[in-house]
Amino acid sequence: MTTILDGKSLSQTLRQEIAEEVAFFVAQTGITPCLAAILVGEDPASQVYVRNKERACANVGMKSVLFRLPAETTSEELLTLVEKLNHDATVHGILVQLPLPPQIDEKTILDAISPDKDVDAFHPANVGLILQGRPRFLPCTPFGIQEMLRRYGIETAGKHVVILGRSDIVGKPMGAMMVQRSQGADATVTICHSKTANLPAVTRLADILIVAIGRPRFVTAEMVKPGAVVVDVGINRTEEGLVGDVDFEAVKEVASAITPVPGGVGPLTITMLLGNTLKAARGI
Ligand code: NAP
Repeated sequence: MTTILDGKSLSQTLRQEIAEEVAFFVAQTGITPCLAAILVGEDPASQVYVRNKERACANVGMKSVLFRLPAETTSEELLTLVEKLNHDATVHGILVQLPLPPQIDEKTILDAISPDKDVDAFHPANVGLILQGRPRFLPCTPFGIQEMLRRYGIETAGKHVVILGRSDIVGKPMGAMMVQRSQGADATVTICHSKTANLPAVTRLADILIVAIGRPRFVTAEMVKPGAVVVDVGINRTEEGLVGDVDFEAVKEVASAITPVPGGVGPLTITMLLGNTLKAARGI
């Protein structure tokens, strides 16, 4: 019997826990954790993501402030706002919704966010700390995946975790986290990408296969070892609606556990952002 890893209900549980922690923190300190979100331009998907983040903050008793900037905003204007928020003691977390318009250099902006308010954990200082196994914040999507494996009692120690995709947001930090000498990690890690030779032979080695490539239903049943745990990070908008990077219907017949899309990894990403914002408000 294949376990469906239900990110939606796990997310509700986690948000309830965070709401209780927020209420306790506010009662103790009089400080309400606050997330500042910056949205540049009119990208429809980004607008939905930012709205969901605002709503999620409100639901756990946190504040959020949204800064909407026009698509023609310059790097200097955006940097000025980031600097202002870095120094605003009422703001604990800062997130810049990606992608940014082409005239703005993404790395320059992300590097300008104070590492203490970098709740997405994209700042090089925070990435370095993750690599060294002493994280300040963990990036929200890999953090959500690790928490899901932990809460479902899926052992990672000594397991071969194969990650498909080497993005800075998912693949690389996921690998850095799973290889750590710690609980919920201690795995043997392989990271694959578009230049990996004989990919199906590598993915078939996985006890836990984590897929983040942005290719609809790319991973087929033949690429999965029977009994493996399969985590699908992909979000692909197709004519049939949202689909993941994994051929869910076929792969669920061979996997021991699998995340659906939607309702798997997606809901956990925002939940972990809330947890990081609370952590930032606590002063880490
Ligand atoms: P990305 O920046 O889009 O990069 C894709 C990665 O996949 C690259 O490393 C690329 O290899 C690799 N790749 C692409 N085609 C491949 C192929 N045919 N064989 C092997 N590797 C291949 O990655 P991302 O930002 O992590 O996004 C991946 C997917 O996850 C997207 O669908 C995105 O929407 C989704 N996502 C979901 C969440 C969530 O909350 N659920 C969060 C973030 C992302 P190269 O490096 O060699 O080009």
